[in-house]
Amino acid sequence: MENIKENISFINEKIKRNATIIAVSKKKSAELIKEAFESGVENFGENYLQEAIEKISFLKHLKINWHFIGKIQSNKCKEIAKNFEWVHTVDRFKIAKLLNDNCPLNKTINVLIQINIDKEESKSGINEEEILSLAEGISSLPNLKLKGVMVIPKNESDKKLTEISFEKTVKASMRLKDKFPHANEVSMGMSNDFELAIKKGSTMIRIGTGIFGERH
Ligand SMILES: *Cc1c(COP(=O)(O)O)cnc(C)c1O
Repeated sequence: MENIKENISFINEKIKRNATIIAVSKKKSAELIKEAFESGVENFGENYLQEAIEKISFLKHLKINWHFIGKIQSNKCKEIAKNFEWVHTVDRFKIAKLLNDNCPLNKTINVLIQINIDKEESKSGINEEEILSLAEGISSLPNLKLKGVMVIPKNESDKKLTEISFEKTVKASMRLKDKFPHANEVSMGMSNDFELAIKKGSTMIRIGTGIFGERH
């Protein structure tokens, strides 16, 4: 049995309030999410919509901020807009527009632009060069608030390569902030590399295994 409370204390100790913890709860039960919430985590990330909606509805009495961090298809935008406060994986205007158009009344959705920093064929995310034009598009949508960028670097065993990807992401974030100063969040770093990510300038770390243990 994983000791969720201890895991969270351990991470808090390491990050010293330099970043927000997003507890990635995909494939983990509502009971475990509640346990993490009671240990002080208020932000949770989910990848799979159907699974997420069930948990969100079951836990709606708790003041949780839900972050969508999975791949987005157009036909999912309506439910994502309804259920999530944050969306980390916006990489094209069409998706932003659909989130905006399906946003419930009196709600604003916080969005991050996902960057494909290592230009991987198979990966979601926009190329660095296109960030500003997407940012302009997002800014024209009244129900969305552009908050920054998100990255999933290439899966490298070599920490040095991950470090380079983090540095490139932070540079891209700085160029974005020149034009959009409030878009200052950098969602970067997971269980294996969150300390390095924070050292490089991450403001939001997405931790799954490090809090809940292995996924099956
Ligand atoms: C699953 C997932 C995580 C968490 O990964 P861990 O290695 O378990 O911390 C973070 N970000 C994204 C986008 C994920 O899909």
